[in-house]
Amino acid sequence: MRKKLAAGNWKMNGTAAALEEVTALAGAHPRPVADILICPPATLIDRMAAVAKGTAIALGGQDCHAAHTGAHTGDIAAHMLADAGATHVILGHSERRTDHGETDADVRAKTLAALDAGLVAVVCVGETEGQRDAGETLNVIGTQLAGSLPDEGVTGATVVVAYEPVWAIGTGRVPTIEQIAEVHDFMRAELAKRFGDVAEGIRLLYGGSVKPANAAEIFATSNVDGALVGGASLKAVDFSAIISALEVA
Ligand code: PEP
Repeated sequence: MRKKLAAGNWKMNGTAAALEEVTALAGAHPRPVADILICPPATLIDRMAAVAKGTAIALGGQDCHAAHTGAHTGDIAAHMLADAGATHVILGHSERRTDHGETDADVRAKTLAALDAGLVAVVCVGETEGQRDAGETLNVIGTQLAGSLPDEGVTGATVVVAYEPVWAIGTGRVPTIEQIAEVHDFMRAELAKRFGDVAEGIRLLYGGSVKPANAAEIFATSNVDGALVGGASLKAVDFSAIISALEVA
């Protein structure tokens, strides 16, 4: 049985005042059935770790560098995230791939660094609208999965895969349930081909405009083990409703 996971990606949002959302969320879910993860900006991780201490909320970074140390101004190494209190890191988010030109090979190197630092890697894949319209979705997802995951170290305990159609992120547009199921079933099969039985334990998240109103339907979908949530994870009341929908799915 895969444990469900509700992951919040705060992106470049949040200062100290936002820590109260974590307190509120922890209060609303003292003994959650699902795993809860918040990935705040790196500047907040250590303060959030203090607030989340003793609660069921885990913390993650939103990116890491592939190297351990060195002359990489502005970058953060995986072990530094761990040192600040993170247990997870999002890698290969489409905004990183677009804004910073990250390739599958970059994501793979970062994933190895994350695993080396003991972090769970939440590896994101997703097609653009043009690619979907061209009938390329499964090809794109297959290529990204193959290129972004390393051969070594991938288990259900170390890697989570998030399917995030680029055109659904922050747009309020969501694929049909059939489209989500098609991609998630495909990802499970691709992972099984490559990693064998281990693939059964790898959690597959859907991400892209998940809201309290559409969460239950998405969570009832084949091979959807949770969600990666952007905008709706910023407010405890919204994220809490999504977590509750996941827990009863
Ligand atoms: C995301 O950033 O990973 C995301 C899914 O954003 P949103 O929920 O706002 O679409």
